[in-house]
Amino acid sequence: MTEFNTRLVHGPAQNDNQTGAVNVPIYTSTTYRYPKIGAAVQYDYGRSGNPTRQYLEDQLAALEHGTRGLALSSGMAAIHTALAIFKAGDHIIVGDQIYGGTFRLLNQFFERWGLSATPVDTRDPAAIERAIQPNTKAVYFEPVTNPLLQVTSIAAVAKVAKKHDLLTIVDNTFLSPYLCQPLPLGADIVIHSATKYLAGHSDVSAGAVITNDEKLGDRLYFVQNALGAVLSPEDSNLVRRGLQTLSVRMDRQQANVKAIIAHLQPLPAVKKIYYPGLFGQPGYETLSSQAKGAGGVLSIELADDVDAVKFVDSLQLFQLAVSLGSVESLVELPSKMSHAELSPAEQLKAGITPGLIRLAVGIEDQRDLIADLDQALAKAV
Ligand SMILES: *Cc1c(COP(=O)(O)O)cnc(C)c1O
Repeated sequence: MTEFNTRLVHGPAQNDNQTGAVNVPIYTSTTYRYPKIGAAVQYDYGRSGNPTRQYLEDQLAALEHGTRGLALSSGMAAIHTALAIFKAGDHIIVGDQIYGGTFRLLNQFFERWGLSATPVDTRDPAAIERAIQPNTKAVYFEPVTNPLLQVTSIAAVAKVAKKHDLLTIVDNTFLSPYLCQPLPLGADIVIHSATKYLAGHSDVSAGAVITNDEKLGDRLYFVQNALGAVLSPEDSNLVRRGLQTLSVRMDRQQANVKAIIAHLQPLPAVKKIYYPGLFGQPGYETLSSQAKGAGGVLSIELADDVDAVKFVDSLQLFQLAVSLGSVESLVELPSKMSHAELSPAEQLKAGITPGLIRLAVGIEDQRDLIADLDQALAKAV
């Protein structure tokens, strides 16, 4: 049972199943009995360990080729957990297009605790090397960024990082282990907002941290237990269930993306398409070298004479909402939503134009999705 899709469905063996249940139970107990004083027990308290959470954590570790997985209460809790292994005076290099919430955590929280960060374009290994300081401890990045889907080579970053004794930390939310497994490519820590593809149904907030290094695993577990932002048993079960259909969902999402692009590309109302999963697109070669696909998110730049606000407001099947990776299709206007905190000048510098639209494509019928895009375009031209 070594193939990925089979492992998605079956997961690790259950070790205490006396009923024949094919799924792990949801253990709600927050405390566990000691047989006698001083006995060695696997579980003693729900924050420190829970069998349902453990099952998911083992499954996540296996899917990412790691040895230790941790499930947290959100993607941000996972990122907080990973970054909390550093200490005051440390410095990290971060991708300059990472998730806005991660920037906020670094600039408005960790900065106060003495962990500093320098943003660089991680597509350029030389730029990473130039940003290294004597106190630099890690490079943190997303191999496919939001909303412009810029692609960074995990192997190239890991090579620079290893040369300088730095950790490589990858937020793999946009690709998921189905499409990309950063640990075998040289990463040390992988992070997920499991709220997105892993859970896949917009009904649970969750995060994950995975490593293949035993000592790092111990340091990360210490933080998970000390900070306490653990994933509940109920939500652990939702992520476990979501994972079983990860590849089926992503196959459909990617097929839908490709159909949408084939339809939109010739239209004069669409100026540009960002999706590194297609030959000829920037980042295609790098992406193909490290991932099986680019996922279910694409961005489009509407022509100047198309009203972007009117377009997104007119969509009916695509719901106007942030987030991604779910079964339902969503649309987002970065300049007014996810990146609204940036000034217009900062937005332009980051490539966020007023006509940039991000689509997070779901698993609906592609003809319905295309018809929705067409009717909204007709209203917005
Ligand atoms: C959503 C997201 C996060 C944050 O995850 P939450 O589950 O919302 O806390 C982090 N990184 C990326 C790339 C994301 O898309």
